[in-house]
Amino acid sequence: MGNRRSFLKTSGILLAASALPLSSFMIPQRKSKLGVALVGLGYYSKDILAPALQLTKYCELRGIVTGSPEKIPVWQKKYKIPDANVYNYENMHTIADNDDIDIVYIVLPNSLHKPYSIIGAEAGKHVWCEKPMAMNVSECEAIIQACNKNKVQLTIGYRLQHEPVTQTIIKWSQTKPYGTINSLYAEAGFYNRASDHNNWKLHKTLGGGAMYDMGVYPLNAVRYATGLEPISVSATHEYTRPNVFIADEITHFNLEFPNGITAQCKTSFAENINTMKVDCANGWYKAEPLQYYNGVSVLGSDGQKVSPFQGNQQAKQMDDDALAIMNKTAPIVPGEEGFKDIKVVEAIYKSAAQNGKRIPIA
Ligand code: NAD
Repeated sequence: MGNRRSFLKTSGILLAASALPLSSFMIPQRKSKLGVALVGLGYYSKDILAPALQLTKYCELRGIVTGSPEKIPVWQKKYKIPDANVYNYENMHTIADNDDIDIVYIVLPNSLHKPYSIIGAEAGKHVWCEKPMAMNVSECEAIIQACNKNKVQLTIGYRLQHEPVTQTIIKWSQTKPYGTINSLYAEAGFYNRASDHNNWKLHKTLGGGAMYDMGVYPLNAVRYATGLEPISVSATHEYTRPNVFIADEITHFNLEFPNGITAQCKTSFAENINTMKVDCANGWYKAEPLQYYNGVSVLGSDGQKVSPFQGNQQAKQMDDDALAIMNKTAPIVPGEEGFKDIKVVEAIYKSAAQNGKRIPIA
């Protein structure tokens, strides 16, 4: 089934055998592009990832997994996806037999990241899993274990860690151009109209709520900006539309880091907010917007500017991750990075359930 490109590994060598020098037999042939199957064809797959996969150099869209039959002909026509590369959630495990697909990219509601990441790993496919990695620490551990057991790479879709302006912020956590960091403020959110009451993003059991959706951005940002792990958190939820949001609408969380560094963070489904400010001994710098798909930029207290990246964030992310698979090198955002955020998210929910009690993070 689906051996369109496997000739690179097998028949290509056989056909050309007489023409090749002996050394060619010893060098494993490498695919020039890895095949990606998008699992879940909602907003992020349709509007962002599939178009970005038309710009990638080291991977391409070759398959889909969907529970919506009406989407199949549209995707097949638009992206020339053969019948053999179309799956549903019931038969997704049979992707194991398909050499055309190297990677499954899990772009489902957050509560489904764990089961479908594991199905992908058990099928022997590399797993790219969207943020937030999963609902809790034990789900993250199960995904990591399944990927390790099946010797496949696992990366989390934190696109910003692939984005050059953000990479400058990450570098500054070590080089400290404005001196030691004293405190940070970070926030990300948008006005979620919540017009569809059934949408999974409003419901806690499916992984909805502002914290899972947008809150991981300020959380991840204060972790990458400091290069440190928080030692405690105190959090509270706030609601402007308590009858609409079954999950959190606004979450405030204050983190303590080693060396007395503190971070005040906020996420919201009630307003458009998107910034991080880092206060240091000799000045400050600010990322604004912090996490949009375009235009992330930095301004320092001395007037220094880091201009926005002109490329496509998601294409860069997927090419970086594909290269890590091809070259068997460590990915930029491994599963452990998603796990570290979820450990804090778990403590945030615990603290908020106890009216902001300080929760140590082991
Ligand atoms: P979405 O609701 O638009 O799409 C989810 C898809 O899952 C839909 O096609 C839906 O049909 C399918 N689905 C399968 N089983 C389902 C079930 N039981 N209930 C509901 N839907 C089900 O969501 P989205 O905005 O595309 O988000 C998907 C994932 O991508 C989330 O984890 C989200 O956090 C992540 N995401 C990441 C970014 C980013 O910038 N990295 C941006 C947007 C979304």
